Amino acid sequence: MNTISLAIHGGAGTLVKGMMTPELEAKYRAALQLALDEGYKLLENGGTAIEAVEKAVVLLEDSPLFNAGKGSVFTATESHEMDASIMDGKNLNAGSVSLITGIKNPVSLARDVMEKSEHVFLAGEGAMQFAKELNYTFESPAYFYNELRYNQWLEIKDTDSFQLDHATKKDAKFGTVGAVACDQYGNIAAATSTGGMTNKKWGRVGDSPMIGAGNYANNKTCAVSCTGSGEFFIRGVVAYDVSCLMEHKGLSLEAASDEVIHKRILEINGDGGLIAVDTQGNIAMPFNTEGMYRACKSSSGKEEVSIYK
Ligand code: ASP
Repeated sequence: MNTISLAIHGGAGTLVKGMMTPELEAKYRAALQLALDEGYKLLENGGTAIEAVEKAVVLLEDSPLFNAGKGSVFTATESHEMDASIMDGKNLNAGSVSLITGIKNPVSLARDVMEKSEHVFLAGEGAMQFAKELNYTFESPAYFYNELRYNQWLEIKDTDSFQLDHATKKDAKFGTVGAVACDQYGNIAAATSTGGMTNKKWGRVGDSPMIGAGNYANNKTCAVSCTGSGEFFIRGVVAYDVSCLMEHKGLSLEAASDEVIHKRILEINGDGGLIAVDTQGNIAMPFNTEGMYRACKSSSGKEEVSIYK
């Protein structure tokens, strides 16, 4: 049987040890552990990589601690606009949604775009119409309300600035969630979901729903989910770049991930991190920020739940 492995993230940023209360830190660790355990259980019971990454991301979306699903940040117009994507490394099937509101689990809608539409990427009103046709229930804004995110927004709402999530320093906050998995059949998959940036406007879309930028999976190489300054991750085509370095330069998963996060993306001033797996079940989780909420587990014995460097 192929090595099975799962890695998840809940965003990167200036997460410095000691800046959080022990109680809050325990909550983050518990939320990561739950998503890891449930996703991994699925893999152990013969589930596919796609099922496992969706399950793990759904649980992270349902937690108000992360900037995705419940707990998504506020836009400039006091709403929530969420983005998500999913990709199957076995056949390069992919689905993405962007600028959606009211949907409890954007990653599941992305999976439905992949499996139940002829398309890869649906946005805004159209994506929500697609959800209606599939009988999705829409949550009220109250479901997504979170006091911390609201206060973050109040601080900058009448300014031109926008903000990433999860940090002690205002200008360096990321909070997207993601998962990558390798199943017992040797297939890999990736999923990413986000509320984007606080106070974003003009229909701003980040890297998370963009196949190749914030999310990518290909059995030939790797499955990758990113978190960080989305504009830079789009320009760096980060997830696909890791895959390219493996395919065309023969780098290992770890070397390719490190090259992109510690060199290439830094050269254009991008900050953040990524999680990645390959079909051998290897895992990489590099980041160039102070910390990244992350966790991983594999049948080769690796297990970790971490926040700081
Ligand atoms: N990459 C996401 C975005 O730019 C933000 C994040 O990772 O928290 O929308």
